[in-house]
Amino acid sequence: MGLLAHLGGALWSEPIRALHVTQEALAAASLLDLSSEDDTLNRTVRAVYERASRTPTSVHSVALNQPFFRLFPEERLILIALHLGKWSYHRLSHVLGDSVEHIQELAWNARLFLAGSALKGSQGRPLMHPTGSTQCIAACPEWSTTHPWTQRYLDRELGHKEELFLQERILKCDGCKDSMQRCREIYYAAEKSIPMLQDPWMDDFSKNLRQTWKQSQTLVHPWEMPFRQSLQMYFRKTEAKLAVTLLVLFLISWTWKLLA
Ligand SMILES: [Zn+2]
Repeated sequence: MGLLAHLGGALWSEPIRALHVTQEALAAASLLDLSSEDDTLNRTVRAVYERASRTPTSVHSVALNQPFFRLFPEERLILIALHLGKWSYHRLSHVLGDSVEHIQELAWNARLFLAGSALKGSQGRPLMHPTGSTQCIAACPEWSTTHPWTQRYLDRELGHKEELFLQERILKCDGCKDSMQRCREIYYAAEKSIPMLQDPWMDDFSKNLRQTWKQSQTLVHPWEMPFRQSLQMYFRKTEAKLAVTLLVLFLISWTWKLLA
């Protein structure tokens, strides 16, 4: 629920509104009784994101002071999911209905923007854009300006063979090593600019979402409830109370008849 709380807070800048929207989406998704918790989380994230994209006021004007909230909702969702949730590109592609390549492009643009904003005006040396180096040779990985291999490397999206190949190039080629180092700076500068939902909001958010989840599960799987709790729920319903009252009245009149 922690990741969901951060995602809600990233898509809706006002915490109370973020909580309401996220809670509603979670309740609706968990009532669908999807096959796994991951499916429920995917469906919830999708719903919160769709609602934020359709609502121009999802980000309050004060929040626009933070570069993160100047990003598009899709970009904010991608960064939270990658940095805090360690989601794969494939999962993001599934949730957003977008291609894996485009997810990488959005992540890269968003990171460049955040890292650039974070370092603008600072005293240190300016942020260097990682490019394919002229020192690289034909055996080096091909550089893409829209979705570079260095980003895939840091997002842990490489297969074992590809990872070994790139590690070898980083060791052998100064150009690849330099590209990797520059990308790392962008990656971590962007990560620092991601606002984290703080306590007491974070605590409230998580508690409320857990409660919503539990209640929905009780409705979807009533047979998994303890016997006492299911009886209590049963007797809370008006129709059940009426049925029990009628049954008792019937038994009393029947007993009287037998005794008479
Ligand atoms: Zn190289």
